[in-house]
Amino acid sequence: MIPTAVIGARGEERLRRGHPWIYRTDVVDVAAEPGAVVEVIGPRQRFLGHALYSASSQISLRFLTHGEEEIDESFWRTRIATAIEFRQSLSIDATAYRLIHAEADLLPSLIVDRYAEILVVQALSQGMDRLLPTLVPWLVDSTGASGVLARNDPRVRQLEGLDQHVEVVYGEVPERVEVREGPVSYSVNPRAGQKTGLFLDQRENREAAVQYARGRLLDCFSYNGGFALRLASRCDLVEALDISAEAVARINENAARNGLSNVAAREANVFDELRRLERDGQRYQMIVLDPPAFAKNKAAVPKAMAGYKEINLRALRLLEPGGYLVTCSCSYNIDEATFAHIVYEASVDAHAPVTVVEKRMQGRDHPVLLGVPETYYLKCLIVRRVT
Ligand code: SAH
Repeated sequence: MIPTAVIGARGEERLRRGHPWIYRTDVVDVAAEPGAVVEVIGPRQRFLGHALYSASSQISLRFLTHGEEEIDESFWRTRIATAIEFRQSLSIDATAYRLIHAEADLLPSLIVDRYAEILVVQALSQGMDRLLPTLVPWLVDSTGASGVLARNDPRVRQLEGLDQHVEVVYGEVPERVEVREGPVSYSVNPRAGQKTGLFLDQRENREAAVQYARGRLLDCFSYNGGFALRLASRCDLVEALDISAEAVARINENAARNGLSNVAAREANVFDELRRLERDGQRYQMIVLDPPAFAKNKAAVPKAMAGYKEINLRALRLLEPGGYLVTCSCSYNIDEATFAHIVYEASVDAHAPVTVVEKRMQGRDHPVLLGVPETYYLKCLIVRRVT
């Protein structure tokens, strides 16, 4: 028997508008095992295409195809090859970057990041979890990777009724992988680092910030030192802050590895430290704010907005007139306009008018599928304090 799912009119309309997800409430009937690839039938008995079925998630169906296209080996290989060719066309000056960005590469719930010869993969739905063993050899074929690590530990897997684990699924994966991003080299721990090891989505924003960097720089929420290390050669002095002692150790290690003697990392809570620096009368020519997602869900939005405003306000006060603030939000639940408004409110309260120098987002290797807002999460504004 062919696994099938029947959806209602609202689901069909969503699909017509280009969104690949069908919620549980729009599914009328299912005859399939959890994680199966199903044929989806519309309200007028019309065959709509194939989708991944999840029995646990609110997102019941993730569309793979529209219409009659077969889901066979050549289908998967073509989708993988298309995603990889796009990255090759970008001339990325780094050995670590995203190869497959899930829905935006029409490979729903599959993440593949490249760290030199190693691939780090995440399967974030029941369907992708089931398919992963089949896809891994094809990923290896098309990249020549020597090892593949499944970082299947994100919390979202719980919503799919999937366990959280990390395992090598092909070849060998060393404890640490050496990668390069522009002129900066890193030693990455793909098993335990945040995300899949590095914040690859910020690479192009770090690069963009280079042209404005000078004088004394404060890099807040620095993690492995992403912004601090890339900007250091343009600055006199770089201070990097992170709340995690391990991150601070890593920043110092990476600074030494790159021969950057003007980078000093310290363990601090950015909220407290910005206040302290202000009390001390410190001033900077550039400040970077790249906090973790404050709004992990809708309910957290008001508190998150207050948090974003607070750090932006404090940072603008510490900035010299003519100085630059690189301010980011990776909260999907706070959209671009809302984020810009928060920064504006902060500038009003700080009595620090700013001009927008650049409006940026996640790097091009993390594409945004227009009409699918879930694929657009990282906002980055580069603003200049005018007076
Ligand atoms: N800017 C980094 C990525 C930042 S990720 C890059 O370019 O790679 C967010 C970081 O913020 C994490 O390393 C986390 O440890 C740190 N963090 C979270 N809350 C913090 C706080 N209140 N004060 C300082 N650091 C914090």
